[in-house]
Amino acid sequence: MASDSAANPAMTKTSALKSSPKHEVVLLMGPPGAGKGTQATRLAEERNLLKLSTGDMLREHVRSGTELGQRAKAIMDAGELVSDDIIVGMVRSAIAGENSVRVLFDGFPRTPAQARSLDDLLEELAAPITAVILLEVDEDELVGRLAGRAREEGRSDDNADTIRRRMRVYQEQTQPLVDYYEAKNKLRRLSGMGSVEAVYSRIAGVLL
Ligand code: AMP
Repeated sequence: MASDSAANPAMTKTSALKSSPKHEVVLLMGPPGAGKGTQATRLAEERNLLKLSTGDMLREHVRSGTELGQRAKAIMDAGELVSDDIIVGMVRSAIAGENSVRVLFDGFPRTPAQARSLDDLLEELAAPITAVILLEVDEDELVGRLAGRAREEGRSDDNADTIRRRMRVYQEQTQPLVDYYEAKNKLRRLSGMGSVEAVYSRIAGVLL
């Protein structure tokens, strides 16, 4: 193989670009409890991507008691969605002006309006979406995982009522994005069942 690329310098260039493109924008979608956060952390590390989790960003605001955090807390505890303006503003300030956009979004976008704003922002940056990964998990399994997380991490939005509400909100407001990205031919549906390791291999397999 080395002799091929020596004979054809363009080939070397192409493979170098493939291994670390200037832009890589991956969206991780799935219902609450699908394992997005766990997979996102590892994926971001291994692919040298900036992990942008809007949930983590909001929780950080709540922890540090900013005005935004104070407004967001009640909404998060109720399992509802924080307003599109706030979310899009946070994302925009995290990546606007970057000339290399290598980002993994976890839990964003969550509404069609957020998806359209993301398209606008990425168009400004000339950074197309690489792939949208949808992790699909049986509902019983989701509920079990969230209950486990409530015990281990003590997240204030992991109680039974809020979990149910978050599932409904996902179905009503976020599920339509599946069609949105499918129509753009960006969607990759993957099973999120099984071990963390098994799910990770599936994701890594489609991002080759
Ligand atoms: P997550 O950690 O992604 O499950 O997010 C926890 C909570 O933060 C959600 O239930 C929402 O209240 C809020 N949140 C996180 N990301 C978004 C988003 N993209 N749009 C609206 N609300 C969000």
